[in-house]
Amino acid sequence: MNCFLVLLILVTSFSFVNVNVNVNALENDDKNFIFEEEQKVLQYSDNSTDAKVEKLAIIGAGAAGSSAAYHLQYFTNHLYNVTIFEKANYVGGRSTTISNFEGSNDNDDIDDFYAELGASIFIKDNKILSKAVDIFNLTLQEFSVEEKYPDLFDGSFGIWNGNKFVFEGQSNSLWSKFKFWKKYGYSPIKAYRANKNLIRNKFLKFFYDNDEHFPFDDLNKINIESGLIELTNKTGKDYLTDVENLNQDFIKEFVQATTRVNYAQNIDQLHALGSAVTLAAAFSGSGLQVKGGNYKIFEKFISFSENNQLLLNSQVNKIELMKGDENWKITYNDGVEDFFNQVLIASPYHTLQDIEIDIPNKENEKFLINNDLAKVEFVKLHVLILKSKEKLSSEYFNSTGNLESLPEFIMTTQNDADENPPFFSINIIDYNNDTDNYIYKIFSPIDMTLENNDFKLSTLFKENNYEILKNHLWESYPYLVPKNKFDTFKLHEDGLWYLNTMESFISTMETSALMGANVAALISNGKNTTNLIIPIGSS
Ligand SMILES: Cc1cc2nc3c(=O)[nH]c(=O)nc-3n(C[C@H](O)[C@H](O)[C@H](O)COP(=O)(O)OP(=O)(O)OC[C@H]3O[C@@H](n4cnc5c(N)ncnc54)[C@H](O)[C@@H]3O)c2cc1C
Repeated sequence: MNCFLVLLILVTSFSFVNVNVNVNALENDDKNFIFEEEQKVLQYSDNSTDAKVEKLAIIGAGAAGSSAAYHLQYFTNHLYNVTIFEKANYVGGRSTTISNFEGSNDNDDIDDFYAELGASIFIKDNKILSKAVDIFNLTLQEFSVEEKYPDLFDGSFGIWNGNKFVFEGQSNSLWSKFKFWKKYGYSPIKAYRANKNLIRNKFLKFFYDNDEHFPFDDLNKINIESGLIELTNKTGKDYLTDVENLNQDFIKEFVQATTRVNYAQNIDQLHALGSAVTLAAAFSGSGLQVKGGNYKIFEKFISFSENNQLLLNSQVNKIELMKGDENWKITYNDGVEDFFNQVLIASPYHTLQDIEIDIPNKENEKFLINNDLAKVEFVKLHVLILKSKEKLSSEYFNSTGNLESLPEFIMTTQNDADENPPFFSINIIDYNNDTDNYIYKIFSPIDMTLENNDFKLSTLFKENNYEILKNHLWESYPYLVPKNKFDTFKLHEDGLWYLNTMESFISTMETSALMGANVAALISNGKNTTNLIIPIGSS
């Protein structure tokens, strides 16, 4: 039980190694694929066109869609003819990397640098992802800079409130643990125990319960039965204060630092299941990352079956309910049509605005989205990756000088007046020995590079010496607002599914993959050749 392990994990959540761009990796790794440049189609060469085989469409090749594709074939021994439409030119969605920004090292790809631009870590208890790493023989890597370069980095971290560091420490340091205990008393231990109990006895026990609850056909029912509704209907702050009776400084400083770095939301904004997930990551002590990029899991999910056809650069514009055997007409790339028995929408809420859904007994697509589904707002998160030969400026942070230099991993919280610092976190994610460059990742609500900001990026580096490698704006995850009721994931009884319902409940790669597996199991029921259980026990 080590609270600083969280910090260790959070630090390690942003690490680097080397890889080619995703499509190349797919081409190289999976020789069965052929890449047809003109049509921008990736498919297996012997893909079946048997008309009797049930045809399923999946929209989106992220964690949810790729997991659905895998589990549909897994449960039925490759029964379905599945087409995965992906508007981007890569698999993974919000799990993606930027690569090779420091150039090749002696032309050895293994030593190239890369960074996770989106989803960075998962934990051992993320059973679907952990099992996939196993089944597909992927490699997990050490990711913290202090593990990679122990002579250069010491695992230092700090919680900055815009005026001062409210806590500074070092992972694996007894002195830091003592300071932590002195400042927050027994609250971290109480929080750790409660969190462990909750993840085991409310989340895993119900959502992965192959005897009774999996697959679940109603998210609200399982939310009530598991008791998690007590967390989804309150803010993290209210739950940790009223139910767990934790110290207010611990909640505002430590727990809020984890919710800000993981969900870009403050503890009085997001629901308590959201804060429980960020604490679980912090307490787990074993953050995991796939070498080469987490997206490799999702590529493997899709290439698992010859009956999965992946169409990259293929944006779905319209879904139409028809009469006849193949119920659904899909129009993509502004005019190409195909027909399917069932459709799984595995893209986030805001992307539904670009898909016309035409169901005869409903008025029109607006009716479906606006009336049948609650509006879900996504956080706009700026992710900046830059390199510099400098360490961060201690002047900017009014550093107390307790540490030899500024912490390698800076999380943030609000100050006494509840004002927010201009960024959520800054950390060193890698170091290039040859060039002496530190690689930094910054999460912020604003574009840190704009000249007219009150905050100037240049103030972080004394010599103003840095180079921007990537400045990306994500619609990263939903605002996890407290809720009693979540949307249905079965939009129409003739086979229209909406997997992204899960994200307002909780947003992680694992839970998206879980919803993919769940819907796959519901569809496969009756046609399954293996038990409809999450394949976490055997490969
Ligand atoms: C910066 C950042 C950090 C994160 N950190 C973590 C982390 O450390 N750990 C973690 O578990 N999670 C993390 N997350 C959250 C995680 O990325 C998501 O919860 C998860 O990846 C969602 O997967 P998904 O398949 O549901 O959606 P997505 O990954 O968004 O996939 C949806 C896909 O649908 C495609 N699409 C959309 N519209 C269409 C259309 N009309 N036609 C065809 N295709 C379409 C999109 O291009 C996309 O590829 C992070 C997210 C961000 C942005």
